[in-house]
Amino acid sequence: MIYVTKSFLPPVKLYKKYIDNIWKTNQITNQGPLLKELENKLKKYLHVKYLHFLSNGTVALQLALDALNIKNGEIITTPFSYVATTSSILWERCSPVFVDIEPDNFTIDVSQIEKKITKKTKAILAVHVFGYACDIDGIQKIAKKYNLKVIYDGAHAFSVKYKGKSLLDYGDITTCSFHATKLFHTVEGGCCITKDKKTNDKLELAKRFGHNGDIHKQLGINAKNSEFHAAMGLSNLPFIDKIINERKKISKLYDKLLPEIQKPKKQENLEYNYAYYPVIFKNEKQLLNVISRLNKENIFPRRYFYPSLNTLPYLMKKQNCSVSENISKRIVCLPIYAGLENKNIEKIIKIINRII
Ligand SMILES: *Cc1c(COP(=O)(O)O)cnc(C)c1O
Repeated sequence: MIYVTKSFLPPVKLYKKYIDNIWKTNQITNQGPLLKELENKLKKYLHVKYLHFLSNGTVALQLALDALNIKNGEIITTPFSYVATTSSILWERCSPVFVDIEPDNFTIDVSQIEKKITKKTKAILAVHVFGYACDIDGIQKIAKKYNLKVIYDGAHAFSVKYKGKSLLDYGDITTCSFHATKLFHTVEGGCCITKDKKTNDKLELAKRFGHNGDIHKQLGINAKNSEFHAAMGLSNLPFIDKIINERKKISKLYDKLLPEIQKPKKQENLEYNYAYYPVIFKNEKQLLNVISRLNKENIFPRRYFYPSLNTLPYLMKKQNCSVSENISKRIVCLPIYAGLENKNIEKIIKIINRII
């Protein structure tokens, strides 16, 4: 079976070394030494100031909205993402206002944001989808003009650099996911990143029930992660650059052998992480045909992202985003992961080329 991705597993000896340590400290959660070590190593690796290792990327988004005091408002967001981007807005009892995407790289179309701003708008929640950078300068300008908070969902952007700087270092808060299917994983996990001391202090309290000892300061939730998850992160982190390099090679091979197919355009000043390999077919029929042929060979690409989130059935009102709806019907992510063999890549390519 070949899936869109395969979780990297570190040498079990290395993982065991960290686990043995847990048996020595007997601390398994509540901001233990391994969690602290992972947070410090991630801050260094990502060149960011404050980072909170959390239980997953969805709760990271919810906590971010909460830490920035965004309540009962409208949030400008993108329809082209994983459902968690929209569901966390709804879960925090806010309203998503969808702005269509750029046809080139599927990030939010900044030229269309201003006309969607109302008195109720509180924030912009944009996604560096597939690890492609949003128009950060454009978003910042609008946020400043209308006094809006900016949150980036950076679930796909681990290790990406934009204009020489970590892509996770922008906005009021950037979140990331360390789920097993993501480039860097801790089995389940995620984080909130910020530069602001006050926001950092809020996250620190809110992620563990809002209290310090017996002093209850604010409403909180349980968003902490454990020593076992931190151990997996610490075991995976030393391999991340090697993993990215291997993915880069696969990506280049796809580029070379799939010259005819439409692919997104990455920004020039982007140091990419090769987390995904999306391709766009002529129409949905062709895409379904390719998927069914691949499935017959036990190859399972994923329709990332489908459906366009503005069409979710539980939204209160209908909003149109024609570019996103169009792309989401025609896009699929091909298998890409460290260890994917050349002969299997060639098989995938052959099947696609035969159909197109
Ligand atoms: C995976 C993902 C999330 C959610 O992360 P979890 O850790 O699975 O909760 C949020 N946003 C995007 C864009 C994702 O791809």
